[in-house]
Amino acid sequence: MPDKIPAAIPAAIPAVVPAPEFVPDAEGWVEAARRVPSPNFDARPPGLPLDVVVIHNISLPPGQFGTGDIEAFFQNRLDATRHPFFETIRDVRVSAHFLIARDGELVQFVACTQRAWHAGQSEYCGRQRCNDFSIGIEIEGADDQPFTPAQYHTAARLVSGLRAAYAIEGVAGHSDIAPGRKTDPGPHFDWRRFAALAGLPAALLPYRT
Ligand SMILES: [Zn+2]
Repeated sequence: MPDKIPAAIPAAIPAVVPAPEFVPDAEGWVEAARRVPSPNFDARPPGLPLDVVVIHNISLPPGQFGTGDIEAFFQNRLDATRHPFFETIRDVRVSAHFLIARDGELVQFVACTQRAWHAGQSEYCGRQRCNDFSIGIEIEGADDQPFTPAQYHTAARLVSGLRAAYAIEGVAGHSDIAPGRKTDPGPHFDWRRFAALAGLPAALLPYRT
C-alpha cells in the first residue's frame, strides 16, 4: 500500500490546548516542573532550529524506580560505591532537559534553550548531532516494563507545551536516532497512545510510519 501513514495515527489531529504551566518561558524553563539544575549542558550552536523532541527511558540502578539516582547522575553526584553498575558510569557526564517519574512528576534539569547531553552520536532524518537541535525527555522506565498512565499524561502535556513555544517538527525515540546503539524508549512505549493524548499528527512522527 502506498499510504505510509498508519491508520492508528490520523494525519491531522486538532492540537490539544497547551496548559500554560507546561509552556517553556523565555529562558526555556517549565513552571510545572520541579527544577533540579544539572551542570551537564552547554550552548546550542547558533542558527539552528530547535525543532525535535527525543523520547528516552532510564532507570538507575537499571530496572529500579524512585531511587533518586537519576537526579544524582545528572548532577554528577552519583555514589559509585552504592551499586556495581554505577562504577561503569562513574565518569559519564550526561543530562536531559526533562525526566518524568513513575508517578508522573516532571523534573527539569536543563533549560530548553541550552543544549543538554542526552542523545550522543545520533542522526535525525539526515541531520547529525541531535543534541544541537533537540529537547530530551527521559521517562523513568525500562525496555521490558510498561510505562504508567501518569507518565503518558505528563509526557503529552509537556510535548503540547513545547509545541506551543517551539516549532517542533518531529518526535523520535532515542533508538530511532541512534539505531543499533540505543534501544530506548523500547517496545513498551505506546506511541499511538502518546500521539493521541498529545494530539500529535502522524507527520510529526516520521519514524512511526
Ligand atoms: Zn536514551
